[in-house]
Amino acid sequence: MEPRQIAAGVWVFTSRVMSTTSVVVAGGRAGAGRAALLVDPAWEPDELEAIAGWLERSGLTVVAGRATHAHYDHVLWHPRLGTAPRYATPETARRAREQRRCLVAGLGPEWPADLAPLVGDVVALEADLIPWDGPAVRVVEHNAHARGHAALWLEEAGVLVAGDMLSDVEIPIPDEEGLDGYRQGLAVLEPFVRRANFLVPGHGGVAARTGEDTPIRRLERDLAYLDGLRGNLEDPRLRGAPDWLLDQHERNRDWLT
Ligand SMILES: [Zn+2]
Repeated sequence: MEPRQIAAGVWVFTSRVMSTTSVVVAGGRAGAGRAALLVDPAWEPDELEAIAGWLERSGLTVVAGRATHAHYDHVLWHPRLGTAPRYATPETARRAREQRRCLVAGLGPEWPADLAPLVGDVVALEADLIPWDGPAVRVVEHNAHARGHAALWLEEAGVLVAGDMLSDVEIPIPDEEGLDGYRQGLAVLEPFVRRANFLVPGHGGVAARTGEDTPIRRLERDLAYLDGLRGNLEDPRLRGAPDWLLDQHERNRDWLT
């Protein structure tokens, strides 16, 4: 499992499961190598191990972790990734703590027992910036898709790590906030989407400002999806979509009533 470098000091790994992304950001010196921030490492145990192996080979030491939100595929870890604090918003940390059993159960019976205690073991960080020796990483909490959900904005590289928003493979998946709350979440992200050179969704491909599938296109597509729910919606993400996503689409229509 090799990552794709999208900007200086920023790499994206993509899991074989649901194209789940993990992001590595390189910082200043740490011991014999460089410090690294690791966001949402995913997914399967051998993939987590492969990320750890790549970090070791690259001379990168994880000094901070980050979970974008309290869903089981975004709060994973592996012993070889080390014992750095894994930050999350206070609400995400609270949810992860309270829902720990569900998070582990969601990973299925095959999930290794030695990795289970690490699932959701995140700490609350009430700060706009991640405290670490590296480029500024701003926390953009928007509460759409999951309460406590926060994107990360890498100002220097112009990279928006969006969490489970703005995907090219998944339609919007609102939670308790409903359609209007989801729109508000997108509005919080919009200024960063407009400035982004690259947008990394929690699942799917990276959008680049210079490509056809730009960050702004992603935003427009999600807004068009929400606006189109009442009518005959044509969304490329629904074509040939897996059953769970089509079910989600039907549930999204339930918000209209
Ligand atoms: Zn999610």
